Amino acid sequence: MAEFRQNDCGNWQQAFAGDVFNTAVYLKRLSAQTDVAFASVVGIDMFSRALRTYCDSEMLNSRWLKCHQERSCGLYFIQTDSQGERQFSYYRENSAARTLIQMLSDDDWLEFAEQMDWVFVSAISLAILSEENRQGLFQQLQRLQRCGVKLAFDTNYRSSLWECPDIARVWIYKMLAGSDLAFAGAEDMAGVLNHCGMNAKDVARELTPLKIPELVIKAGKEQVLVITPNYHYAFEIEPVDTVVDTTAAGDSFNAGYLAALLDGQPLSERVQWAASLASEVIQHAGAIIPPSAMPTMVLNTSDS
Ligand code: ADP
Repeated sequence: MAEFRQNDCGNWQQAFAGDVFNTAVYLKRLSAQTDVAFASVVGIDMFSRALRTYCDSEMLNSRWLKCHQERSCGLYFIQTDSQGERQFSYYRENSAARTLIQMLSDDDWLEFAEQMDWVFVSAISLAILSEENRQGLFQQLQRLQRCGVKLAFDTNYRSSLWECPDIARVWIYKMLAGSDLAFAGAEDMAGVLNHCGMNAKDVARELTPLKIPELVIKAGKEQVLVITPNYHYAFEIEPVDTVVDTTAAGDSFNAGYLAALLDGQPLSERVQWAASLASEVIQHAGAIIPPSAMPTMVLNTSDS
């Protein structure tokens, strides 16, 4: 999506952002040797064209970035009020991205299966689709898994994008149960379950019965829990003193985690890469930090 952010002088600054997009950009920056494709739909409007150019500049593979002739790129605006609270206004009802399932052909899905090792989907990817298209996406993801592609999923919950909380809960649980790697935010799960104040341990109790092969639970500056069928691990997070903007904290965390995983790093290092990138990202305004601000990942060969 095209993001417009009002700065301290009242001027609007334009950038590009979106949860899966943010993860793709950060993953490619951390893992130059990995072919990272951003699968979505844009239009032919000026923001869509600029988004495509931006993908190229970030070295993302846009083989599955489709073009819709009538729809356009979604937009959102962020303003910070006098109490420092962020206010979002979204203009995405007619966004091209909502047509993803119609725009991807059977050949596209076959190529995915042949060329990709992992596919990463978020609850927002599902929320913006019609119920029929969610079902279509789910079936295609299951086919990919049968061809050996692994599925990673993030619970990113935006209540306003779903018809009702019950539908969101059904889909998020369906995706969690089918994932090879799941990222669950404590705040997201509290929203999904309408259970105020849920912490990482509550989420672990709730999701462990799903037997997800690798479940990563994020809870802001609190411990990160990683749960596999045989072990539970807890990793401390070093809190950032001056948080500027938490936009993309979770998305960049996911990218750091995936980059370390693809690099063959053990669990402890996956969390370490994830947390160090996320802690840098929240010290900058906006979802995507300048390439020059990217942290250097230090390899540690200790076992998880
Ligand atoms: P999500 O957006 O997925 O809900 P969180 O808010 O839980 O994500 O944050 C994701 C990650 O960002 C955390 O696990 C942590 O590594 C990092 N993070 C978030 N807030 C802080 C903070 N105040 N200090 C340090 N790290 C943070």
